[in-house]
Amino acid sequence: MPSTAPGRPLVLTGRAAAPGAAVGPAVRLPAARDGGPAGAGAPAADAATEVLRFGAAAAEAARLLSARAAQAPGEAGPLLRATAALAVDPALHDAVAARIGAGEPAPAATRSAVQELVERFAAAGGPAAERVAELLDVRDRILAGLAGRRDDGPVQPDHPSVLLADDLAPSEAVLLDPARVLALALAGGTPTGHTALIARELGLPCVVGLGVGELDAVPTGSTVLVDGGQGTVTVDPDVDDAHARVSAARPGAGGGWAGPGRTRDGRTVPLLANVQDAAGARAAVAAHAEGVGLYRTELAFLGRGEEPSVEEQAAAYAEVLEVMAGRTVVLRTLDAGADKPLRFSDLREEANPALGVRGLRAARRDAGVLERQLDAIAAAGRRTGATPWVMAPMVATVPEAAAFATAARDRGLVPGAMVEVPSAALHAERLLAHVDFLSVGTNDLAQYALAADRLSADLADLTDPWQPALLELVALTAAAGARVGKPVGVCGEAAADPLLACVLVGLGVTSLSCAPSAVAAVGARLGRTDLADCRRAAQGALAADDPDGARAAAAAVLDGTGEQTHPEE
Ligand code: PEP
Ligand code: MG
Repeated sequence: MPSTAPGRPLVLTGRAAAPGAAVGPAVRLPAARDGGPAGAGAPAADAATEVLRFGAAAAEAARLLSARAAQAPGEAGPLLRATAALAVDPALHDAVAARIGAGEPAPAATRSAVQELVERFAAAGGPAAERVAELLDVRDRILAGLAGRRDDGPVQPDHPSVLLADDLAPSEAVLLDPARVLALALAGGTPTGHTALIARELGLPCVVGLGVGELDAVPTGSTVLVDGGQGTVTVDPDVDDAHARVSAARPGAGGGWAGPGRTRDGRTVPLLANVQDAAGARAAVAAHAEGVGLYRTELAFLGRGEEPSVEEQAAAYAEVLEVMAGRTVVLRTLDAGADKPLRFSDLREEANPALGVRGLRAARRDAGVLERQLDAIAAAGRRTGATPWVMAPMVATVPEAAAFATAARDRGLVPGAMVEVPSAALHAERLLAHVDFLSVGTNDLAQYALAADRLSADLADLTDPWQPALLELVALTAAAGARVGKPVGVCGEAAADPLLACVLVGLGVTSLSCAPSAVAAVGARLGRTDLADCRRAAQGALAADDPDGARAAAAAVLDGTGEQTHPEE
């Protein structure tokens, strides 16, 4: 929603997707793709040849995407491999072949088959809808191949600029050159979507979900300030104010933060990183993270048709443990289903996948996958001399936590549980009778507490991590940990927002884990804040009725203002 007052710059508000701020001239990427000129490509041959032509173009699209995945940073690689898998998905192949058999040339058959999938994905909502941009990306690549066009990647500005677009496919985002793209502002998308994740990997400030048509109000070439921590885009900002915001939001602002995590008055709060492979672990070490608070093990295997062997898994886990060299590493067991579909995991289609068989629940159908993963983690621990911590995603009940804890302890692992379901927060103390630690996944906890799809741009206000009810559940969980003397961390995106991180500490959370690119800014902010102020900010946020009120209440304590700003100290 745009807002302006006489004499004040226009401010567009979307959702914070990647921290940091940047100011520069606006450049608009061309609007939504349409797949190129109708009928592009060689004239239709006989059906068998057309099917072969389609197959070759699809295979080439998959090859290019896989090659791009190999160069992509951190968590972006597996996501692109998942897009590559879409290009050669047998269901797409069969749908196109059927249309060609009915007389359509390959390009038209590709368009209509993908369109049908797009409509199905969009109607399904949630994680499927989130992949529409990937489907369109795959379609365009196949059409380009059929027409003999080269893949030149997204148009990039020739001088440092802020890129505005309706949406951007993950495979395009990964090619953005941070020397030429200062920040990203998107009409669509969500903070948990893949494009946002890649922006975080690239260290690009990013705001998403600004709303269809809102960016039309931003003239090309005008100066814009993108604040990826606040979720705002300011058009023609006051220059001094803009530069102050940029330097205040710079990682390490406030004094070259190099760890360890603690408040100004000395309360220790380990700052950990969220990673998905050894490259992420190296970024975590470089960012002075004190360990890994969330190793998303499923991401490395997203595009795989077969379960990786115990040996392959053990090698991957050992690499991360080695990089972290004795620091704590919390491996999350496979979180298959919903927004992270794993092709090899036997999960049938469900009407409500986010409420279905996902995460730990997959073990109801096949306990072997979990057991083999725990074996692999234990093997990696033996190989590296580390004692891995493991946690299960989507724990909803005490017996689930108890069974997981037994399976982990039997293998010499330290067991924990994620708190992503309100029932787990309510029964946190009982869970802690079985596991040694809890880690609050605020992305899912918001989705389940507010009954709002975490990937829906329309419901973004409900899944805002500042929702007071969500903070209340975090407080309940932290209090349970304090009663029994066991650690309770937060590893959802909430921990990446420096202001909110202080509030979480004030709620009693004992560690924070976020993207490596966000660690320094969180550490710096915490380091200039006293614990008592964190607690006062937390009380103010809890007492608010909505996210904006919670933010303002916290800012009033921590910034000494009702507005969110980043004053330098
Ligand atoms: C969460 O739900 O907050 C979380 C950290 O897990 P993921 O985002 O991978 O679902
Ligand atoms: Mg989750």
